[in-house]
Amino acid sequence: MYSYAVPPLPSIHCRDMAAKDEVMPKEKVVMYESPEAASLQTVTGWVDAGGRFWGKDEHMARYSGSTHRQCEQNPEHPIHTTGRGCPACHEERRAANFAAMPKRVWAGEPIIEYDGDRYFFDEDDLRDYLIEYEIDLAELKLVFCTPNYPSQIDPNDHFCDDLPEDGEISDDQLLAAFDLLNEMIRKSPPLSWSPGKEAVELPKTFIDMVIHERLEAQA
Ligand SMILES: [Zn+2]
Repeated sequence: MYSYAVPPLPSIHCRDMAAKDEVMPKEKVVMYESPEAASLQTVTGWVDAGGRFWGKDEHMARYSGSTHRQCEQNPEHPIHTTGRGCPACHEERRAANFAAMPKRVWAGEPIIEYDGDRYFFDEDDLRDYLIEYEIDLAELKLVFCTPNYPSQIDPNDHFCDDLPEDGEISDDQLLAAFDLLNEMIRKSPPLSWSPGKEAVELPKTFIDMVIHERLEAQA
């Protein structure tokens, strides 16, 4: 059998035992050897390719027993690995997101490939890449980056584990050192860059220059 009932536990404290014992019904005796204790039953359910029983859960049995499946959104898409999203759907969503982004003409700010992890920090960076790898300009998807600056440090937060409850740093020298540190942090250039939400439109002069250089390289 695949299900069994758990009898409710009697919630009686020891000192009440004697009093309650008389009114409690006597526990029924079921012999191990008796037909009442167990019976042979036929159970129907879903079993996956590895032999695991899933009961009524056909989906989980199929999910567990398969390696690939059809796309649920679009039957035209190629089959994909079970347990992962459809790569073709992912691609379509990414392309739609990019198409919906606001566009701005690039003036040499840090940018990154939309579907990659290659950063470009100036015109030379991008030009070299486009020429070296013969990237199709029509296929090129780039987005502007947003800067990640270092955060200032609050000394009371920083030492909160060591300070008494509701206590604060009172040492003026230590506070002055943190002030100086925070001043440097505020002046710091970005530590890193993250992909932003604006698409890059390459200036026509830049595109012309790349096309021109490619022609020259071929000649
Ligand atoms: Zn799909």
